[in-house]
Amino acid sequence: MTARRAYLDYNATAPLRPEAREAMIRALDVSGNPSSVHAEGRAARALVETARERIAVLVNARPADVVFMSGATEANNAVLAAGWDVVALSGIEHDSVRAPAARHAGKVGTIVAAASGLIDVADVAAVIAGETSGRRLMAVQLVNNETGVIQPVMRIGEMCRAAGVPFVCDATQWVGKMITDVEQTPIDLLCMSAHKFHGPKGVGALYARRGIGLEPVIHGTQERERRGGTENVPGILGMGVAAELAAEWLLDSGARSKLAALRDRFEKSILENVPGTSVNGTRDSRLWNTSNIAFAKLEAEALLLLLSERGVCASAGAACSSGSLDPSPVLLAMNVPEQLAHGSLRFSLSRDTTQADVDGAAVMIAECVQRLRGSSSKVIS
Ligand code: PMP
Repeated sequence: MTARRAYLDYNATAPLRPEAREAMIRALDVSGNPSSVHAEGRAARALVETARERIAVLVNARPADVVFMSGATEANNAVLAAGWDVVALSGIEHDSVRAPAARHAGKVGTIVAAASGLIDVADVAAVIAGETSGRRLMAVQLVNNETGVIQPVMRIGEMCRAAGVPFVCDATQWVGKMITDVEQTPIDLLCMSAHKFHGPKGVGALYARRGIGLEPVIHGTQERERRGGTENVPGILGMGVAAELAAEWLLDSGARSKLAALRDRFEKSILENVPGTSVNGTRDSRLWNTSNIAFAKLEAEALLLLLSERGVCASAGAACSSGSLDPSPVLLAMNVPEQLAHGSLRFSLSRDTTQADVDGAAVMIAECVQRLRGSSSKVIS
């Protein structure tokens, strides 16, 4: 049986929606600078503010609390580099959280993730109680980009609020895939990227609750002095349209359940048909679109390349350095044995994924694994 081409790497990026593309093309002809007072400038400003409103609707925020940036990397950097004395973060944060914390914070404390991929709220409480002075910040992601494991951010946020500690949540893999309600959630700062919900790459936003008192990292008068630089008008307009479409899609919770069932079907097929496989991270608290599977005694890179040749796109959730894939720090932080982390792949669905996609991919994965296991050079002993 020949499998059809299947793209299962939507956590890396999700293709631009045609409506967003059209908005971006039109925006290329918007001549005004949104900061100018003449008619052209005001027209550009009106378009940017409409996009801001659409993003505010997607996360249920006040438009004034949404700051446009170049993506979640910048949003995370803007928060983490803003002069904190003490930062507590989970051990499975994205590089764009970990690196600026290590570089700029006076002191960084790490909250260890269990094998489930979850952090323990008791550890969060202990960290909060252990550091009571200075400018403190708590940073815990909403959902992990490699495992799809969802953190208990509601409880973490409540504890932070009770202690007066600002809470930043990297919600890059959540926004647009799940309902987000910052008004009802004790999150003070929330980071997002447009391309994770079928918007353009290189644009994103930071939600900053009013009164949070964040020092800008890029100084200038734009975005109410919270992020300097002339706005990326095409990117922002594309993001606005993608946000509106995502908000519409989110109205039907049945769509998410169907996709979760497809992910489960895919996973079941792999676990049943491919010996030596297991799922990384808990399946009890997981985003509908992600599956991280360990293939014992295989190298992820070899499997990824063979799958790509056969039309299946996945990812190793690992950094590629000098041609070799290092095992994912996220999986290692969850105590996944190094040998299994070396052979783990991430598969991620989008709202357009079909049963034919997942079934075709599952057949091809089984074939490719069998082939690689048959050739001893690709097998780790
Ligand atoms: N945080 C998480 C959890 C992510 O998955 C990503 C993108 N992979 C980022 C932050 C950074 O997003 P961007 O590259 O769009 O800035």
